[in-house]
Amino acid sequence: MSKYNSIRGVYDILPMEAEKWQFIETAARKVFDDYGFSEIKIPIIEKSELFTRSIGEDTDIVEKEMYTFPDRKGELISMRPEGTASVVRAYVEHKMYASQSATKLYYVGPMFRYERPQKGRRRQFFQIGAEVLGLSDPAIDAEIISMLFTFFDQLGLEDLILNLNSIGCKECRPAFRTTLLSFLEDKIGQLCDNCQNRYEKNPLRVLDCKSKTCFEETKDAPSILDSLCTCCSEDFEKVKTCLDMVDLKYNINPRMVRGLDYYTKTAFEVTSNRLGSQDAVAAGGRYDLLVEEVGGPPTPAIGFALGMERLSLLLEEEDLSLKRCPDLYIAALGVLAHEAAFRLAHELRTHGIKVEFDHEGRSLKAQMRRANSLGCGYVLILGEDEIKTGRAILKDMTNHGQEEIAWEGILSEMRTRMRG
Ligand code: ATP
Ligand code: MG
Repeated sequence: MSKYNSIRGVYDILPMEAEKWQFIETAARKVFDDYGFSEIKIPIIEKSELFTRSIGEDTDIVEKEMYTFPDRKGELISMRPEGTASVVRAYVEHKMYASQSATKLYYVGPMFRYERPQKGRRRQFFQIGAEVLGLSDPAIDAEIISMLFTFFDQLGLEDLILNLNSIGCKECRPAFRTTLLSFLEDKIGQLCDNCQNRYEKNPLRVLDCKSKTCFEETKDAPSILDSLCTCCSEDFEKVKTCLDMVDLKYNINPRMVRGLDYYTKTAFEVTSNRLGSQDAVAAGGRYDLLVEEVGGPPTPAIGFALGMERLSLLLEEEDLSLKRCPDLYIAALGVLAHEAAFRLAHELRTHGIKVEFDHEGRSLKAQMRRANSLGCGYVLILGEDEIKTGRAILKDMTNHGQEEIAWEGILSEMRTRMRG
């Protein structure tokens, strides 16, 4: 038992896992850049009010999941439970809306929610998210979804399911809410505690409750898609048409609503059958009212966030060529050879060549074994004789060839070989 352990629901990302994450992040950065997105680095902490106002007072996140504390002056601060609120705050604060074109941003980093830890659900978890601010054309909805799937394709993930819905706008949602409330009225008693609570505050959430009884009770609930106003309904059609144009398959799921208040119109979730009960890898939607809510001019917007832990669970290490093997291993024997190895390794590394050598005075055999297991491209063997004569053996580990070279010239030697 170690003296200190990380706190419940908060984990170290160990090197093997971190490599996978780097691979994921690199792929995301490349794809998002291709689609014209730029990175924004948002703070980990914000005034609590930003989240309570934007996410919604009656949502699970704000009601029970936020890490909130008073700072030394008594101001309430929260660890960010998600990224969109901060992106929108930054967008308004820095008047990014004044720019000629739409703003496309992405972020990568940890989020914090006080949830019950289980597989795919942590208290500190990482998200990659993207937001488009300033465009109302439903084609953008399809574009950002297709960006997400281009990214999944790059990772070799082909079995993900796109669930799609429209949750209407402030014109049409109130009427649906009323219809739904009257449908639920005589069923309240049968719903789970959570949903009994939600009934008044956020009845739409009852529709995507994970409890079996709630699902059964609401099987015949009215569909929000039948309540959409002309504008929402036309926009939804266009999203679907655009997705069809790029051959993206989707499931229309009128029960899917999002757990945050700021969403309007398009809502989507990407799920996997391989994840068990926490099956949502990514989720997002349009939030046309949020920028104004946060103090900016009316600005349509859409975004998504994906969960790194769940995405990583879907990727098998062996399918990814994660590790860059060392280009060269210097097998050094004796003090002088070790000194030379130290100096050569420095020179080679400053020129972008990846080098390993031994610090523990191991035998040649042991060093060769290590070079092999690391997958090194070449091995340079330096012993006392080699130091004296200035000549040493360079082994090519791929074709098992070997050649005697002037070892002081190893940099140009490696450069020539790596070019070839
Ligand atoms: P869930 O349905 O799992 O509660 P959510 O609707 O709360 O998800 P969002 O706020 O939309 O999730 O976050 C987007 C994504 O972030 C999720 O699809 C999921 O992959 C990931 N995510 C959310 N909460 C957690 C968590 N506690 N631990 C790990 N990943 C999470
Ligand atoms: Mg949640």
